[in-house]
Amino acid sequence: MSGHHNASSAEVAKPARTGTELLGLRNRVAVLKALRRHGRLSHTELSDHTGLASATVSAITSDLERAEVIEKSEQQAGSGRGRPRVLFAQRRGSAYLIIVIISSDAIQYSLVDYAGKLIDRFVEPRMQGRAGDFLAAIGAGLERVLDRSRIARDRVRAISISSKGLVAADAPVLRWSPVLGTEQVDFEAGLKPLWGARLSLSNETLLVASALGQQQQASAAGFTGVTALSLGHSIGLGIATARPAGEIEVRAPNFGHMLHVPNGALCRCGARGCVEAYAGLYGILRTAFEVPLDTIPAKFVPIPEVDKLAASARSGNRMANYAFRVAGQALGFGLSRVFSLNSHMPVAITGPGARYFDLMRAGMEEGLSQSQVVRMEGMPILSVVPDEPQLVFQGHLERAMALVDEDIVMSAT
Ligand SMILES: [Zn+2]
Repeated sequence: MSGHHNASSAEVAKPARTGTELLGLRNRVAVLKALRRHGRLSHTELSDHTGLASATVSAITSDLERAEVIEKSEQQAGSGRGRPRVLFAQRRGSAYLIIVIISSDAIQYSLVDYAGKLIDRFVEPRMQGRAGDFLAAIGAGLERVLDRSRIARDRVRAISISSKGLVAADAPVLRWSPVLGTEQVDFEAGLKPLWGARLSLSNETLLVASALGQQQQASAAGFTGVTALSLGHSIGLGIATARPAGEIEVRAPNFGHMLHVPNGALCRCGARGCVEAYAGLYGILRTAFEVPLDTIPAKFVPIPEVDKLAASARSGNRMANYAFRVAGQALGFGLSRVFSLNSHMPVAITGPGARYFDLMRAGMEEGLSQSQVVRMEGMPILSVVPDEPQLVFQGHLERAMALVDEDIVMSAT
């Protein structure tokens, strides 16, 4: 898009008309983005946050108001004297978003309005079955969202789905997941016939990295990047990197199933020696109890069982301690490879396994410190970021609403 509006003014007359229009759309999206990130804003604040000229902000806000996308409200000045401040905000009912978070034992549905406010949320246990049954269950869950809220189907402008596992790059297709394995789930084919909404599927840790990147960029100058490492039944990794003009690029490479030890322990994916086979919760239990490496891993390990093992490690049990250290090493070696291929950056550790970080830290540092990149650049900052579900939700909200903003601006102006 940026190529278009660089045309010199002499060319603008006719051929570059579309370029100007695109720039206009882009500015409108920037105004909507600022309102979502900062809440209600005055005209001056909008100009500050977007870098747009005052006259441009006026033109955009009156257009968006006329199209019933945003609304004005008045706030009395603190002293009660003087003119009230006029604040702009998204019109809450202009659009709705449904967020679907798939985990190994449950599916959570959330309904959010255009201002980003949560309206309804419920959780359903995840049934066992094949991909077709799974899609049908999600279809039924989405209908339940409509029934409960009585919102018309066409007001839902986006459905944003996340799961662990491998997501196709170009379509909402789940290519591999811990529970369904290689049986692919095509959400587009399953849901599109009924829904006109924008459909997106994201890897869960990509959303965590996206939310962390946005937070850190907003709170501190000089943000360059962050790696999110999610520990649990499976191991997820997301990388958020700062790009020019305040953009953040996010990726979720297939870290959990990267090779750690050739011909090593059997992984849930069917391969041998993956990072997850050593650092996933089942991998830690396998090491601690000296289960043969070719035993088929359990699909799900109850957290209390791992808590018990951690308690035993903290009270000095050598085998339990060793299992967490081996897990830490697998993560440390893996991270050092990621840094060698990308760049050195802080690591934010999340997920249900983050509570065992104290037991894994030494192994992680041991794994990291053997690589040249860490010897030259130093040990990366390793910190625990609690409340992964909130980050996942935030990531959904930001990414899906950006799509809704684009659609709304295109159709409204
Ligand atoms: Zn694997």
